[in-house]
Amino acid sequence: MDCLFCKISAGQIPATIVHQDDDLVAFKDINGQAPLHLLIIPRRHIATLNDLSPADDALVGSMFRTAAALAAQHGHADRGYRTVFNCNRDAGQTVFHIHLHLLAGRALTWPPG
Ligand code: AMP
Ligand code: ZN
Repeated sequence: MDCLFCKISAGQIPATIVHQDDDLVAFKDINGQAPLHLLIIPRRHIATLNDLSPADDALVGSMFRTAAALAAQHGHADRGYRTVFNCNRDAGQTVFHIHLHLLAGRALTWPPG
């Protein structure tokens, strides 16, 4: 499958990987928007949030728990951080393999752009 994040998960394209297990990979965003900007992806290809099924609930839960653990590991648990899934065009999704953004290390504005 011609998917950038499947290739990163398979080790066919390099990335700065900060965590991996049987189900998930986390790596640095190539165009970081904050001092810490990581992407947490499932190894299994799922194109958008619209494609999730109830069987994926535990997987998505583990993506959020991994984001929280990585934020804590990098010292951002108390000050805070943001997690974001972009879905489709209006949200600016550019890679169609779901990824949870973890942003931390600066005050993040709200509402987002
Ligand atoms: P989204 O706009 O939510 O689809 O986010 C896609 C993200 O993937 C963007 O923040 C990009 O900077 C990031 N990205 C694209 N290509 C790579 C890559 N090869 N390695 C790491 N991050 C990437
Ligand atoms: Zn994929």
